Amino acid sequence: MTFRLYPNKQTQQSLRYHQKLHKDLYNAAVNNRFTQYQKFNHKVDYFEQQNCLPAFKEVWTEYKEINSQALQATLKRVDFAFERWFKGLGKRPRFKSIRHYSGWTYPAKTGYSVESNGENGYLNLSKIGRIQMRGKAKYWGKPTTCTIVYRNGKWYASITVDVLDQALKPEVLPTGAIGIDFGCKSALSITDGENHQQIDAPKFLRNAEQKIKKVSKEKRRKRAPNRNKKVKASRRWKQAQAQVSKLTRQVANQRQNWVHQVAAEIISSNSFVATEKLEVKNMTSKAKKGQRKKQKAGLNKSILDLGFGMLRSTIKYKVEQIGGVFVEVPTKKVKPSQTCPKCGHQHKKTLNIRVHECGVCGYIQDRDIAAAEVMLYWSKGTLPGLGTNLVDAESPSSTSYTRKQAGSMKQLGTKKRQKSVEVSASNELRDVETHSSGGANYG
Ligand SMILES: [Zn+2]
Repeated sequence: MTFRLYPNKQTQQSLRYHQKLHKDLYNAAVNNRFTQYQKFNHKVDYFEQQNCLPAFKEVWTEYKEINSQALQATLKRVDFAFERWFKGLGKRPRFKSIRHYSGWTYPAKTGYSVESNGENGYLNLSKIGRIQMRGKAKYWGKPTTCTIVYRNGKWYASITVDVLDQALKPEVLPTGAIGIDFGCKSALSITDGENHQQIDAPKFLRNAEQKIKKVSKEKRRKRAPNRNKKVKASRRWKQAQAQVSKLTRQVANQRQNWVHQVAAEIISSNSFVATEKLEVKNMTSKAKKGQRKKQKAGLNKSILDLGFGMLRSTIKYKVEQIGGVFVEVPTKKVKPSQTCPKCGHQHKKTLNIRVHECGVCGYIQDRDIAAAEVMLYWSKGTLPGLGTNLVDAESPSSTSYTRKQAGSMKQLGTKKRQKSVEVSASNELRDVETHSSGGANYG
C-alpha cells in the first residue's frame, strides 16, 4: 500500500538528506565492486559489503544515525542490480544522481512506526520526524516493511503489512469448487460444473497498451537526453515523459483494483480452485516474426500478462489464506483444451476453434469453459475416461514435490514453476497426488 507523504519544511529537508546519504552509499558500493574487480580481479558480494558497514560508519560518521537495516537494504539494492546484470536481465549498474535515486527501505520493523488504521495517518521515521500521510489501504495489519519513495517531486511511503496475522478466516469455509481457464479471448472462464461465467479484461486494460504506445511515440519525436553527447532533454520531452509515467501508474493502480475485486469475489464463495500451470507465453497473442517482435513482447508483458499474472497469484494467495486449496493442473499431461469434460475423449483442437464439440458424447461447450471443466474434474478426481481409471499407488514425482515444498521457503520461488501440482496443506492433497501420477501415465 502506498501513501502519499506530506512532509513539512524541516522533515522534507531531512528526507532529502537521508536520500542523499543512501544515494552516496549506493554509489560507493557500486564503485567498490567495479574497482575491486578491475584492480584485483576480486568479485565483491553482498556479505562482504555488509560486513564493511561498521568500519564505513567509523569514517563516515553521519551514517551512524541511519537505521542500519535500511543501510543494508541499500546494499541489497546494489547486489540486486549486479545480479540482474550478471543474469543479462538488466543494464550495467551505474552511479545514480540524486534526481534518479528513488529512495530507501526499512526492511524490518525498526527505524519507523506507523500511526494509522489503514486510512491516512502519520509515519514516524527515526531521525527524521513525524510526517502526515494520506491514502487508503484495502488490507491492513501490522506493518512489516516500509519503503520511502521520491518520485516526480513527491514523497511516498510504500508500506507492506502482515495481513496473515489478522487474516479474517471465515468461520465456515466457502464450499464452492471451481475451475478457471485464463485466456486471451476472455480473461477468465470460470465453472463449477453447472454454472459458467466469463470475465473479460476491463476496457482500460485492453486500451492502455494503445494509449501508452501513442504517448510514447509522441515522446520519441521530442529531443531525448543523451549523456554521451551531452544533450539535455527538451522541455517537451520531459512533459511527454511525465505523461507516460503518469499513464503507466494509472494503469497499474486500476489493474490492481480490478485484480483485487475479481479475486475477492471468487473466494467469497469458493475455497477450491483448479487452474492450469502457468505458461505465460500462451496468454497473449504471439507477435509476428520480425523486428518488432521484441517491442511488442515488451508491451504485452507489461500490461496484459501482468494483469493475468497478478490475478492468478492474487487468487492463489487469497485461496490459501482462507485455508482453501489451489491446484495447478499440469496442462501438458491433462490437455484441458483437448479433452472432453463429460466423457474424457481427447480430440485435438486448433486455436481458432472456439467451441468444444465432442465427437463421442456430443457435448457442446465454449472451448475455454470446457477446459476449465476438465481442470476442475481432474483436480477433484471426477474426470471420466482414462485419467481416473488408472490406479497408481506410487507417485514419485508429485510426492517429492510436496516434500520439497514443505522443506524450504527459499526454494519455493525457484521450484514454483517446475511443480506439476501445487496445493496448500489439506486433506485433498493426497487425492490430487494420485491423480497427478495417473495423468502422467496417459499423457
Ligand atoms: Zn465427450
